[in-house]
Amino acid sequence: MYHITSFMLQDTFGRTHDYLRISFTDKCNLKCFYCKPDGNTPIDHALCTSTASEKLSSAELLSIASDFVYKMGIKKIRITGGEPLIRKDAYYLIKKLGEFPVSLAITTNGVFLDRFLPLFKEIGLMSVNISLDSLIPSRFNEITKTTTFEKVYSNIELAIEQGFHVKINAVAMKNINEDEINDFVEWTRDLPIHVRFIEFMPFAGNKWEYEKVVSYKQILDKIESVYPIEKLNDEPNSTTKSYRVKSFLGTFAVISSITAPFCETCNRIRLTTDGKIKNCLFSNEEVDLKSALRKGEDIVPIVQRAIMAKHAERGGIAAFKTRGVESKYEEGRAMISIGG
Ligand code: SAM
Repeated sequence: MYHITSFMLQDTFGRTHDYLRISFTDKCNLKCFYCKPDGNTPIDHALCTSTASEKLSSAELLSIASDFVYKMGIKKIRITGGEPLIRKDAYYLIKKLGEFPVSLAITTNGVFLDRFLPLFKEIGLMSVNISLDSLIPSRFNEITKTTTFEKVYSNIELAIEQGFHVKINAVAMKNINEDEINDFVEWTRDLPIHVRFIEFMPFAGNKWEYEKVVSYKQILDKIESVYPIEKLNDEPNSTTKSYRVKSFLGTFAVISSITAPFCETCNRIRLTTDGKIKNCLFSNEEVDLKSALRKGEDIVPIVQRAIMAKHAERGGIAAFKTRGVESKYEEGRAMISIGG
């Protein structure tokens, strides 16, 4: 019989870390350029190139998750990737994680969602984040380099029909999809759907430039020029700034990681598929839990040290607008191998 600990993972700035994001895999069936670098950039260091045996097995992943929950006070786990639903043992892992006394959530591209909805219902995972950057089929297919628009769209409809709380993640990018911001908002008129516009973030190989970001302010200005909007309350530690168009059924929000970051309330820690923890999405520093686990060592003090080493903001990297800051992100991982 396990007991929940009162232990808290606190950093030197007093932030308590109780939210673990677990990457099931660094592979994805979609190939969005901002997440998975194409072959034209020197990306070997950015992608997780370890062999299958160097990645966490299902038993190892569950053992680490269990320590986080029962020994380190983690209260929420988000399953992510790469695309988590393409991992061979995804069904088993999700079912097992569903047994932990945590709030369990998932971020998926939605392509295989229909196969997993019955399991999600069974374990009470009723909130699903689905990524969709365009409502125009040809554009979506171009961004993802696939022909999966219809499948993703129909799976979104299915999840809503089945009573899931559906959040849509759309990365807002200049000259790519910024002209669709109000189409996404219009989608929330009659559907209980929650669109979240994410500011385009820099990671290795994704050719990020500050000028390509559609900012929180620009997003709001666009929406407010058409719709009467109201601010909604955000949960403590939330990454979103939420709004609703008056009388619309759904909501929209902005994840303003670039222009209005939320580092001071950050409660998140990430576990990569090769067993490293990252104390910040933007940090290039990683701590190896897998080797410790394989040697039979206690991982708790290792995690504690990693949290104590957390920087105040952006993993210690200079402000996003600083000239030449992109080169710092080039030294790190691509988003696909971090786990978004
Ligand atoms: N495969 C899943 C999916 O598509 O949602 C989960 C992993 S994906 C890395 C998680 C989220 O990160 C997605 O919503 C994706 O759009 C977002 N993302 C990836 N790269 C990003 C970037 N450079 N800037 C902002 N968001 C990004």
